[in-house]
Amino acid sequence: MKKPTKVKIIFVTGGVCSGLGKGLSSAAIGAILKACNYEVFSLKLDPYLNVDPGTMSPYQHGEVYVTDDGTESDLDLGHYERFIDVDLNKHSNLTTGQVYQMVLQKERQGDFLGKTIQIIPHITGTIKNYIYEAAEKIKPDFLLVEIGGTVGDIEGEPYLESARQISHELGKQQVMFVHVTLLPYLKASNELKTKPTQASVKELQSRGIRPDIIVARSDYKLTKEAIERITLFCDVTEEAVIPASTVKVIYEVPVNFEKSKISKIIQNHFDLRYRKPELADWKNLLKAIKSARKKIKIGLIGKYTENNDAYLSVNEALKAACYHYKVKLDLIWIDSVKLEKNDKKEILKLSSLDGILVPGGFGKRGIEGKILAAKYARENKLPYFGLCLGAQILAIEFARNVAKLTKANSEEFDPKAEHLVVNFLPGQSENRAKGGTLRLGAWPCIIKKDTVAYKAYKTEEISERHRHRYEFNNLYREQLEQAGLIISGDSPKKDLMEIVEVTDHPFMLGCQFHPEFKSRPLRPHPLFREFIKACLNKSGG
Ligand code: GLN
Repeated sequence: MKKPTKVKIIFVTGGVCSGLGKGLSSAAIGAILKACNYEVFSLKLDPYLNVDPGTMSPYQHGEVYVTDDGTESDLDLGHYERFIDVDLNKHSNLTTGQVYQMVLQKERQGDFLGKTIQIIPHITGTIKNYIYEAAEKIKPDFLLVEIGGTVGDIEGEPYLESARQISHELGKQQVMFVHVTLLPYLKASNELKTKPTQASVKELQSRGIRPDIIVARSDYKLTKEAIERITLFCDVTEEAVIPASTVKVIYEVPVNFEKSKISKIIQNHFDLRYRKPELADWKNLLKAIKSARKKIKIGLIGKYTENNDAYLSVNEALKAACYHYKVKLDLIWIDSVKLEKNDKKEILKLSSLDGILVPGGFGKRGIEGKILAAKYARENKLPYFGLCLGAQILAIEFARNVAKLTKANSEEFDPKAEHLVVNFLPGQSENRAKGGTLRLGAWPCIIKKDTVAYKAYKTEEISERHRHRYEFNNLYREQLEQAGLIISGDSPKKDLMEIVEVTDHPFMLGCQFHPEFKSRPLRPHPLFREFIKACLNKSGG
């Protein structure tokens, strides 16, 4: 196992409870280091036993994020890419399932030469290897390593032990620990309690880890007394306690952290010559967000409405495009299952919108509701943006109601339908099992001139990220085009339709890929920008 000699590793752990925004905190630290002109890469260690989140329910786990190389990962990678503006890859997400898979595969091959396989050193060794390999292959200045879960979780132990060993092997000058913890507020005594933080730091210490920075999350402003108590009991300097009160806009976090000079603490720790972070872009973004008055009403037609995280990147991409035009996003959740059942209240919601977005999704439930929304958008010239499944919905609706293929459907929802305008491409994959059979990651796409897509991208060749099993059926290309559905984005070989748009409509566009994964708060995605522009025109500028 080759130890990295230059890369500085920052481990981020979480204490007290989950849901503190550990991923956001690490991403914000990454943004600050990037703003100091360092190269930053990040990886997330997920303690669960699934091999990857690809087959996990969005209800439980939020969206599945996809990187250029087709890695299906935890949504925290989305935060990292948005904050650090770096393209992550297979070196950015490790799960316990993967670790065991690797170790057991080696065991079956006899690679351990009859030895007893144990958590220490075999599981921890594999984890360390993964981290060292990422450091060696990517060679960033800083490698941020977020350990999922909360300190004390049984599943997290091998990761903490690996982090401890890495700190032992590389030494303080190359490793740092940031602990994100919660200070609950007690109304009765009107104070923020530090005891849970003390307890979680003790837990870390008992595992041989001493945090160098404590990010203190709270819903209220941190008092001086609270900081003093943390300093005293948790063995950190006063400057190293970073107050992190809950914010309205997540992009405030880097600017807030830097108010406590976190960049200085980190660079001092690693004995680096100080570089000041250039946060002007983030500050300007916050100004734009705060000064926005006009609201734009976008209906998001989905089925995972209980859990916003299922559409996290879509939400952030919409917001980024709104920030660009200095307008506020008023996102209206519309339940496709209710639409399907002809729920009057849900249908009425459509009439107040400035635009409709149908995001990606799997399975039959709610599909007819989405088709109804697409029909409404087409007939009422309301801007419509379909992402992956949303694009397939656009094609099905168009085929049924404009091209008069009344029995059009997707093979996914009705394999026996007369006109399968969306189908499983023969030869694309022989294996139809649920794990690992999707078209994944970055694929090239050629944009046709004089189309809405070209107006947005202003270039003829693009690359976008995919995650789907079904495709537009090439047999219907001509018929649909003749009826007015333009193929404005195509694969270089013209065998995979990538973008379709309805002529004679201000903006009715669907893309087979997921543009939301490439949108950045400081660089909104061209298609989202164009969509919001069309919605603004609809709402009267
Ligand atoms: N269910 C569709 C497919 O598999 C769309 C997937 C998606 O929206 N990501 O092709």
